[in-house]
Amino acid sequence: LMQLFRPLDLLGWVYRTIRQGLVDMAEMFKLMDTDVEVRDAPDAPALAVNEPHVTFDNVTFEYEDGRTILNGLSFEVPAGSSLAIVGPSGAGKSTIGRLLFRFYDPQGGRILIDGQDIASVQQDSVRAAIGIVPQDSVLFNDTLRYNIAYGAENAGEEQVTQGAKDAALMPLIERLPDGFDTTVGERGLKLSGGEKQRVAIARTLVKNPPILLLDEATSALDTRTEREILGTLKRLEEGRTTIAIAHRLSTVADADRILVLDSGELAESGTHGELLSQNGLYAEMWAQQAAEQSEESETA
Ligand code: ATP
Repeated sequence: LMQLFRPLDLLGWVYRTIRQGLVDMAEMFKLMDTDVEVRDAPDAPALAVNEPHVTFDNVTFEYEDGRTILNGLSFEVPAGSSLAIVGPSGAGKSTIGRLLFRFYDPQGGRILIDGQDIASVQQDSVRAAIGIVPQDSVLFNDTLRYNIAYGAENAGEEQVTQGAKDAALMPLIERLPDGFDTTVGERGLKLSGGEKQRVAIARTLVKNPPILLLDEATSALDTRTEREILGTLKRLEEGRTTIAIAHRLSTVADADRILVLDSGELAESGTHGELLSQNGLYAEMWAQQAAEQSEESETA
């Protein structure tokens, strides 16, 4: 009976993980031995990134026939700038991340990185250019070193150590008798949400991608840990093009631009200040969140 249940468990886990974030989905598809949704043309060139400028040009997407999720969405993220995407649940925020990582190709429009349509270059080269810090990082049952170096096959000892330092993981690693050789994950040392997040950040620092995709990067953390992690994330964002899919508005206020998505369409966009003065959906969400927070602090 256990043998019957295992694949179902695995499927459930894969489904939950895919829904929750974007971590290592290509790896999971391999694990499941299923076909990935997109295929490269036989002669597709590799993406070449000089200026990591990201463009969504009139993108239309549906997961299944007849249910439009993104409806002619256009936006630009200049190289080195940050964009935060907010909007009600189900608006299509995570879908934007999945399309950028090319888990699916859009049915209409184009997604460009540095002027190249990501549908016509090798998907591996697209994924190599993007670092993901998901909301709930999944660690492999392997050493900390392996988990940090994952995705950057050529990373040496020095880069791993530097990544761990910049992600503020050293206090933890120095406490462990086996240091970087400590096994973590389900069958090893269990890390806290904040520690897992730091491993994901260290991994991304070592991978050193020109583009960052942050998927609700701080949702699983308490306020103090969140504040600490935000500082580390800032370091990660320096010099990279960042797209943050955000739930909590407090974490997006200093993005260069905020895009407010509603039912797969662009409702508003601008800086935090601009959006507040527009008195639209963003201002409403901001007021609602502020009210919830003050309620929380009253009952705490
Ligand atoms: P939330 O803030 O709740 O995470 P979101 O804005 O990120 O929401 P998406 O995850 O992009 O929303 O989902 C947009 C819509 O697409 C939702 O209605 C969702 O049910 C649907 N959807 C998401 N993934 C799939 C899928 N694999 N197959 C079919 N429909 C999907």
